[in-house]
This record gives sequence, C-alpha cells and structure tokens, in this order.
Amino acid sequence: MEQVVNCPRCGDLYMKNAFRDVCSKCSKEEEIMYETVYKFLKQRENRAATIERVVEVTGVDETLIHKWMKKGRLHATHFPNMGYPCDNCGAIINKGKLCTPCVDQIERDLKRIQQEEEFERKKKLNDQATYHAYNKDK
Ligand SMILES: [Zn+2]
Ligand SMILES: [Zn+2]
Repeated sequence: MEQVVNCPRCGDLYMKNAFRDVCSKCSKEEEIMYETVYKFLKQRENRAATIERVVEVTGVDETLIHKWMKKGRLHATHFPNMGYPCDNCGAIINKGKLCTPCVDQIERDLKRIQQEEEFERKKKLNDQATYHAYNKDK
C-alpha cells in the first residue's frame, strides 16, 4: 500500500511502500553507505569487526547497520561481533527480532493467556450448564 509520508531522514515528502522506508534521494545515499559497509565487511580480516569499528571506519550510522541486519541484507550470523538490538528490550542479538529471554517470556505469556482463556471457556460452559439445569427444573 502506498501513501505519501515525510521521509524520516530528510523530511521530504515521498511515496512510502514496502520496499522503501525513506525517500528516493535518501535511499540512494543509503545504498552508497550500504556498499561501503558491505565492502568493508567482505574483507576477511574485517569479519570479526565490532559494530563500533564498522561505524568508525565507514562513518555509517549504527542504526542504519542495525536496519540492514534486521532486514537480512547484512547477515549478523556471519559476523560474530556484530548484532542489532532486540525489538523488545534492546539486548544485542544476531537473528530474529527478539532475544531468547524475550522469546521465552512471550511464549510464557501466550501460554498463560491460553490457559486463562481455557479456564474462562470452561467456566462459561459450566455456568451455562448450571443455568440450563436451573431452568429445566422450573
Ligand atoms: Zn529523505
Ligand atoms: Zn529482548
């Protein structure tokens, strides 16, 4: 779905779509920065670079590198010392959107909600049964 929005980088109006989260001018600039980072990381001796080192050498903003990692354009799993923040708590991760503790927590929460729903459902059935039984006697 396309809509006209302000570019989060420069503030210009542009058509937002699934492939572009900044305006065309900025996305071109980002492409150039991506190339710079990609070339740097392609060199074997830079594989173990930390994100701070990459920022220092390429001058590219850390949040941009995080964005590429999240999108899978840079594979965090290939670079042992690089990662991006968990969507929930900000811990540094290198795959998915959430860190393991957050995933565990969410699974626990989901299970609890399911159990609660199950409990409510049974309670409702029980109530209905009681109600019907009561009305039958009348
Ligand atoms: Zn822009
Ligand atoms: Zn987390």
